[in-house]
Formats: sequence, structure tokens, C-alpha cells
Amino acid sequence: MILMASGSTVLAENNETKTQPGVAISFDDLYISEWFEANEFFRKYDWKATFYISRFYRLSDEEIEKLHTLQKEGHEIAAHGFHHIRAVDHIAENGVQAYLDYEINPMMEMMHANNFFPTTFAYPYGNRDPSIDTLLLDRFDILRGTTRAAPDLESLRAFFDNNGVVYGLGIDSQRVDFDLDYVLSALQYAKDNNKILIIFGHKTVPDHQYRNETDYKTLIEICEFVTKNNMRFYTMDELSGFIQK
Ligand SMILES: [Zn+2]
Repeated sequence: MILMASGSTVLAENNETKTQPGVAISFDDLYISEWFEANEFFRKYDWKATFYISRFYRLSDEEIEKLHTLQKEGHEIAAHGFHHIRAVDHIAENGVQAYLDYEINPMMEMMHANNFFPTTFAYPYGNRDPSIDTLLLDRFDILRGTTRAAPDLESLRAFFDNNGVVYGLGIDSQRVDFDLDYVLSALQYAKDNNKILIIFGHKTVPDHQYRNETDYKTLIEICEFVTKNNMRFYTMDELSGFIQK
């Protein structure tokens, strides 16, 4: 039996502190107006999301303003690459310093200049390897790769395991491995096992037509599940508080 819930942990009967089960929702790339509109709709669930911004130099002043508004509401604005390239391939061809100078350093400079201070990073295309993780964990608290739906939930890698490298399960409607019932069963598993499910999408839309679009219906079901089951929305930065170093 759970006696008390406060913040992100729950105190169980044996006085052991457990993580409050929940979900960390993230969205990638540059769909600022769509995310802003989605927030108008999903605010009623008191949801929190992490927005991973790539190609920051393409943003208009109005889009930057919208990101500040989202941040003020408790959402996280995080980093997704200055040019959105495949890290492994770029380093293999050009070396580590060239990668940092092309993909990471200018992004951080520009985001800092606009008063965003990202502490977490999502790999474009989920393209990563352990040596790049080591490199980037000097600069970020959490690195998000990607994973696919696993037939059994025990082997699904999208549950946070107190490690700085995490793997998101895709929730865009046209993904071959996407199935809303499966996502809900993963949430049930998170609830039953005091875990946090990590998911990611791209453009939020009321009705999808193309690739890289997340349907409102998916998000509604997720938000309702979280609300009904006394679970919690986490930003990615909040997860870093649980990392065992
Ligand atoms: Zn991306």
C-alpha cells in the first residue's frame, strides 16, 4: 500500500522510497507552432513534455518566444543537434573535434544566447555509440537514444533505469512498431513496477497524414492513463535527479 505521495517519490509501507511511476514524453525537431497549439489542448492534464530542438538557427523570433512560454509553464527545452546529423557517421569521417565544432558547440552557444540552457540531448536518428555517450555525458546529464517495441515488456528498453543514457519508444502514428495498445500496456507495466516510460514523437497533429506525426488521440490516451492512475509526467531533466553516479 502506498501511504504518501510527494513530488516524484512515494513512500511504501516498509518505508522504502520508490519512484513515482510515470512517463517522460519528448518531441523532436522544429514543430514549434504545432507543439504550442498542442500545449493549449493538453494543459488541462497538467502535462509536461521535453522539446528537443534541432537547427535552432532556423527559428523565428516568434518561435523562440513560444519556446520561452512553454519553458515557463514547466516544459523542458532541450538540445537535438545544430545540424541534425548522424553522430557516429560524422565522427567516423571527420573526428570528434569536428563533430563538436559542427553539431554541439554552436548549438549550445546559440541556445545560451537565447536564454535556453539545455541539460539533456536527444541523438538525431537515435544514432549513437558508447564512446559518443562518454563524450557527451561531460556536457549533458541525460542522452536520449531510441528503441523499438519489444514483444515482451520485460525486455523493452524504454524504461528509465537510473542511467544517463535512455531510450525512447516512438509514438508517431506511421512507425511500423507503433501500436497504441502496446504503449498503454507499457504504461500499465510502468505503473505496476514503479517505472518511468520514455517516449518520443515529432509533429503533434489532430489527425496524421504523414510520417513523423503524433496523433492527439495517442496523447489523449496517454494523458488520461497517467491522470487516472496517479502517475506523473516527468521532463527529461527531472530524470537526471535519479541517476546513480
Ligand atoms: Zn530529429
